[in-house]
Amino acid sequence: MVDSQEPQSERPGKADDRLATHDEHRLKFGLLGKSIFESLPVGVVTFGPDLKIIDANSQAVRLIKLGERIDKSLAKGTDSPGMTGPNWTEELKSTLSTGKPCRFDNVMYMLNSETRLLRIVCTPLKRTKTSGALGGTAIIEDITEKVYMEEQLANTERLAAIGKLASKVAHELNNPMDGILRYINLAIRIIEAENLEKPKEYLTQCRQGLMRMVQIVSELLEFSRGAHTPFESLRVDHIIEDAIKAMGPIVEASKVQILRDYAPGIPQIRSGNLFQVFCNLIKNALDAMPDGGKLSVSTRLGAANTAIVEFRDTGTGFVPDNSELIFEPFFTTKDKGRGTGLGLAISRDMVERYHGRITAENAPGGGSIFTVHLPVVTKNL
Ligand code: ADP
Repeated sequence: MVDSQEPQSERPGKADDRLATHDEHRLKFGLLGKSIFESLPVGVVTFGPDLKIIDANSQAVRLIKLGERIDKSLAKGTDSPGMTGPNWTEELKSTLSTGKPCRFDNVMYMLNSETRLLRIVCTPLKRTKTSGALGGTAIIEDITEKVYMEEQLANTERLAAIGKLASKVAHELNNPMDGILRYINLAIRIIEAENLEKPKEYLTQCRQGLMRMVQIVSELLEFSRGAHTPFESLRVDHIIEDAIKAMGPIVEASKVQILRDYAPGIPQIRSGNLFQVFCNLIKNALDAMPDGGKLSVSTRLGAANTAIVEFRDTGTGFVPDNSELIFEPFFTTKDKGRGTGLGLAISRDMVERYHGRITAENAPGGGSIFTVHLPVVTKNL
């Protein structure tokens, strides 16, 4: 017979040894348990059947305003004006009496004038299966960042899906619209020859509507990265001058004076679609100065081999809170029929493709400043 099969009670001194070991284990487990309790990344509060708090770890102290009772401690952060938290006393009592845990996601909890989103799970602690609850535990998790990240991700996915869809729709619409425009132009020519004023007016309206659709579709195609131009390197002031030239007719039609201040010796930059970016910034500046003004375009060499291009106008400026919103697709403050809200979104997309960035701010004396930072080409590829 092996030793382990020998009845333990028959071995003198063994029972005492076992007790000592058991107590040691309890003591050890107590210390271990306490240390696990403390090191948990979530707040844990234990409470008695009267909802009085027995113990709480330091995470719980960090997350909620702990008082004497758990229900009141939870209510302290969720009962602020404008917030509608659960009735904690009722919910916790019901958990203890029914033995069913309760869970609350996205609880808005105000602590130190800051609102955080908490997940709170309350579970009853039972002695045996049949006896009532000894009390319960509340597990409190701060999910503010997680919820924010999920929202961001959903937004990014949504935008990517819209981008894909937009590109498909735009491709599909491009050809039929081109055909319709040709036929309208032909019809206008015939009607003009026959001096039919009304039909001519109607068709002219149709053409205007169609031209707008063509504009939106071509901007959508840009936005969906359909239109790439080769990565050729050019002088930044040359690209700006090309853009100013291309915008010539609308610059001439406006009462806007364009001033240039180009720093000499800036190395070349990858040009790609930057011509379109600059055209768009000029067009926006002109739109912001309906009664005329000045558009100052300047270049300088910034730190870390960056060419900085600044478009400063003396126009209306924008609402300061909108300095980021104006780069969102479809954000426009222009009248219906004048703005698509795609220009800056596309511009930012293009600039970022060349590892640059574009920012907007209101100029101190009125008007706005759009700054484009672009890495210069350090060696010819
Ligand atoms: P859109 O020109 O079709 O409205 P954009 O994306 O180019 O689309 O511009 C978005 C919005 O940004 C404009 O509607 C306008 O409110 C604001 N904005 C852009 N450029 C300027 C500017 N130079 N001055 C003031 N506001 C501007």
